Amino acid sequence: MLFLFDFYKSPFLILVKMKRGDKMKRVYTEYDKGIPILKFTECSNCSMPYGEHSNNIINRGCCWYDAEFDIYDLKNLVDIDIDLLNNLLKKYTYKIKNSDLYYAIEFPAICYGKDNVKHNKVCIFFEKYKGCKLPIYAKPFICRTALCPQVRLYLLPEDYRQIRNFINKAYRHRLMAIEEIKQKLNFSSIKPDNIYEVINVLKSISPLKPIDEIRINILVKNKN
Ligand code: SF4
Ligand code: SF4
Repeated sequence: MLFLFDFYKSPFLILVKMKRGDKMKRVYTEYDKGIPILKFTECSNCSMPYGEHSNNIINRGCCWYDAEFDIYDLKNLVDIDIDLLNNLLKKYTYKIKNSDLYYAIEFPAICYGKDNVKHNKVCIFFEKYKGCKLPIYAKPFICRTALCPQVRLYLLPEDYRQIRNFINKAYRHRLMAIEEIKQKLNFSSIKPDNIYEVINVLKSISPLKPIDEIRINILVKNKN
């Protein structure tokens, strides 16, 4: 899904790949401004049924989501690149999701067919031939921490454990941050339907604690 842009935009990586003349598949982590992402090299040429689509959108993979930024993602963006957040809000249509338990901004995907199903959809931030337009630190949490269902079957147990450890740590960090934000952000004193009010309050909260880095670089071998 998620990882095409960075792969394509790096001529260095492409060169290395061509020089080696191999098809090494890897799952690995990258950090951008302290924010991690789990990457899989095969996303640039997704061959998984999960990534199929009906409109021939090259390399869409599984980027069919209505991209959703919960309060954790919003706080990260406020801390790291508030201008980017403001630009996204100006440029794209969004909906606010607000309940006692959950607050998020959703950017609905583009739907090409009559039915609003994943086969017909492409995320608003997906760019043909390039992939995700967002920098790593601005991608929603789920886009940064999902393990491709394709790759799972090919991993050795110890490699899978390493990846689970990374994902579990990322989830724990997110949950603790959400708790902290909720304690400080008093929704009853603001209008949550006004995202700019929420952003202002998020600005007043101290920056989130950085997440401990876990470096992963796992070679994925085909099963015979
Ligand atoms: S289904 Fe797997 S390989 Fe395909 S785009 Fe999604 S994460 Fe990447
Ligand atoms: S935000 Fe980026 S990574 Fe996530 S679904 Fe959209 S295009 Fe893919």
